[in-house]
Amino acid sequence: MSIKTRFQPHLTQQKEQALYRNRALATSPQTARMQINGLNVINFSSNDYLGLANHPKIKQALVHALQTDEISYGAGASHLITGHHLQHHLAEDEIADWLGTERALLFSTGYMANLAILQTLMQSSDTILADKFCHASLLEGAQHSKATLKRYPHLDINALEHRLKNSPKIKGGINLIVTDGVFSMEGDIAPLKQIQTLAKHYQAWVLVDDAHGLGVLGQKGRGCFEHLNLTPDENTILVGTLGKAFGCSGAFVAGSEVLIETLIQFARPYIYTTAMPQLNALAIREALKLVQNAQVSRETLKQNIQQFRKGALQMGLTLLNSQTPIQAIILKQSKTALAWSESLKQQGVWVTAIRPPTVPKNQARLRITLSAEHSQKEIIQLLNALKTCKKVYN
Ligand SMILES: *Cc1c(COP(=O)(O)O)cnc(C)c1O
Repeated sequence: MSIKTRFQPHLTQQKEQALYRNRALATSPQTARMQINGLNVINFSSNDYLGLANHPKIKQALVHALQTDEISYGAGASHLITGHHLQHHLAEDEIADWLGTERALLFSTGYMANLAILQTLMQSSDTILADKFCHASLLEGAQHSKATLKRYPHLDINALEHRLKNSPKIKGGINLIVTDGVFSMEGDIAPLKQIQTLAKHYQAWVLVDDAHGLGVLGQKGRGCFEHLNLTPDENTILVGTLGKAFGCSGAFVAGSEVLIETLIQFARPYIYTTAMPQLNALAIREALKLVQNAQVSRETLKQNIQQFRKGALQMGLTLLNSQTPIQAIILKQSKTALAWSESLKQQGVWVTAIRPPTVPKNQARLRITLSAEHSQKEIIQLLNALKTCKKVYN
């Protein structure tokens, strides 16, 4: 059988079900105002919440480092061979200092960090208890680990407790509670205080993937934990990504000395891959300085979120309950979400339609992301464009 014979029917079916993905082509830098597919649009779809992806300070630091000839672009090898450069090392120390954890460890992507944690730390006697709406990489990691995966309904603390109570008591078996900090497609925040209490009571460990909270929430941008006045304890594993509010790429795991050393010794997605470019580690360090001092941007972002929510609710749109830059409008059918998205693009605002399997069936939605870079005027433009959609499609 040829590749074509096997897969052409699948591609055709995706198209018929309005599930086919087309990559939009960006021909400008990543900012709040972009050229995408030849259209000049205001970008309400990226995760660059603080506008750091194109920040002059980061670009200057990169240019300066290259001119002084103190750094190469590529890392040349994995961290365990010759790829672990001073810039990686300093970035890890500075991230750990910022978060108040013993150590931090860089990964090339958040996807790999989550695979590494779940596959390396979980054994066959263990149970992973994951929120139903956890990021795909967490579920992927859990499915490929030796542990049993149980999912609990989104944010449902009682259901989580029920599963903890009934989790098999295998000698030496660990329960690991797994959650996003800020949920990537909903924008709501995990009830970390209750989760910590349950974890203590049932002696479970906790994995929090705060990809969308870090940089955005908390006075110093330390994410959900700071926002909720909590600190990760010794059995907490914190994951952050560096391609979102940090505007770079890559990810890190933060936690105890033993956690980090265990990943360095045993995590295959850490060991068998080339270290991220040295220059990216340098950019991450520059971004971290900006993130720590981004109080003004975080305040602007908060105001942008409030302005958007107020306007959207006034016109009768149904929003999910989210105080974060991720604002979802549920439209149910994939075709409807696509039609709204297409109309918005033609009106100069870029909002992506999110469809299954990224979200559950019949839960297709517009995922609007706000940035500190957006002006009040641009948010009004978004609201007006949504108003037009509502008239045409409701
Ligand atoms: C984006 C994201 C990831 C993946 O991170 P990458 O660095 O993009 O691979 C993991 N977890 C969550 C919650 C995310 O939103």
